[in-house]
Amino acid sequence: HLEAVIYTDANGVSNYFTPSGESMRKAFIRTPVDFARISSHFNLKRKHPVLHKIRAHKGTDYAASRGTPIKATGDGKVTFAGRKGGYGNVVILQHGQKITTLYAHMHKFARNIKVGKRVKQGQIIGYVGSTGLASGPHLHYEFRVNGVHKNPVRVKLPHAKPVPNSEVELFSLQTKPLLAQLDTLRENFQLALNDQ
Ligand SMILES: [Zn+2]
Repeated sequence: HLEAVIYTDANGVSNYFTPSGESMRKAFIRTPVDFARISSHFNLKRKHPVLHKIRAHKGTDYAASRGTPIKATGDGKVTFAGRKGGYGNVVILQHGQKITTLYAHMHKFARNIKVGKRVKQGQIIGYVGSTGLASGPHLHYEFRVNGVHKNPVRVKLPHAKPVPNSEVELFSLQTKPLLAQLDTLRENFQLALNDQ
């Protein structure tokens, strides 16, 4: 069985945790667009569809219709939002110290997506388009760890942060009654099963 408790932290943000305070949530969602198919995989020896030359493809392409919303895959901060050569309209997000994600060829940016702004996981940051060097509407998505490109489809996604040390006491105060309730429910359920 799995046990999880909801806890609202000092900043008013609610998340699910294990009884020992580990996050139940991944720090990243795998795919930044819904209803899309992968049209080009991460491949360091790809022949470029527009340039017809061998050129490393350091991300994953998701084909989707123009205007499909693009979601931030993790909580982070906008470090770039603008036009950049072959990327066209591109957003770069910084997540903690080590990880950055990049979203290219956008038709347009979502409102409020400006350098320095914070974004939440799942927040819409822009819309699929074909700006820059693109043969059709798609999202080009990159995932870098310490500056090194990783395959976004395969990279091991870290768990979201556990309950901070400063809130451990509050966490146990809030969640003890919930866990006790769960225990009672489980015992009653077991008794009901035994009666049958
Ligand atoms: Zn691409």
